[in-house]
Amino acid sequence: MSAVRPLPPVTAERGRPATRTTCCPACGATAESASYAWQFSNARGETNWLRCSDCHSYFMDREYALESEVQHTEQMTWGDAEQGAQLNEFKERMYQSILGSICRLVSPTGRRLLDVGCAYGGFLQAAAAAGFDVVGYDIVPSAVKHVQKLGFQAQVCSRAAEFTLLSEPLDVVTVLDANIYWPDQPAELRQIFDRLKPGGLLVMRVVDKSWLATIGARLQQVTAAAGQKLLRRAVNDHRFSMPLGSMLSLLEQTGFRVISATPRGAIHSDHTSLPVKLSFGLGTALWHTLGVFLAPGAVVIAEKP
Ligand SMILES: [Zn+2]
Repeated sequence: MSAVRPLPPVTAERGRPATRTTCCPACGATAESASYAWQFSNARGETNWLRCSDCHSYFMDREYALESEVQHTEQMTWGDAEQGAQLNEFKERMYQSILGSICRLVSPTGRRLLDVGCAYGGFLQAAAAAGFDVVGYDIVPSAVKHVQKLGFQAQVCSRAAEFTLLSEPLDVVTVLDANIYWPDQPAELRQIFDRLKPGGLLVMRVVDKSWLATIGARLQQVTAAAGQKLLRRAVNDHRFSMPLGSMLSLLEQTGFRVISATPRGAIHSDHTSLPVKLSFGLGTALWHTLGVFLAPGAVVIAEKP
């Protein structure tokens, strides 16, 4: 937890091996001042997690390596050709809800939209059908090939700085369930800010189950198995878990003006499980009445002034 606790001996005795991370991926603060949070095993194997003293995010203490990140993603449902395409259908409710929010702010005709981490193109298809000129990028080559076969422009790359398909300023950049895999979120947000037109929109679907991770980390000290189960549910295979309030502060620091942030519209599907739907319902009510965030995720819309 946030209380100072030494790192497990395996890593502590060896000092700081090259594979350990030097910065909080969520806010960029040095990892030196982060405290030990938990150690557990998930889809990425056995990992240590730290808690950032600056932004209070939890993050995996492992340096980012693009090649292994691509390999990992290809093993997950959203990185697999067949299941990735099925996931497009599953997330249709979320896509339409987010598009509805965007279209209330901008008219799609003649507007350029970049989807960061476009996977198998589900959102690109929905946005193109709504009238946007769309383009995307992703780290998984087979996903990009699939998107190109759908008739859209897409590039294999991992960072906004490497995206070269378009040089013209963008009207809308979407980042849906993708920022949690970034090694350096402040740098990515700055790049996106620079690429947007003045008045352009950044639209993110963010995951914030940091509150669940806090419960899991405490529970783990009492009942290891139950705690780990909760932690796996809280962080999935993500690289960090950032409180929504810290996320909004980071956007403001980058220069964005936050237009809205709400769990409403962040539910993936009509087929989402009932407990998760209830968590969204309760989380939405708490967020809009008390400002307490206890939902699984949120849709954030920010504008470049
Ligand atoms: Zn941080």
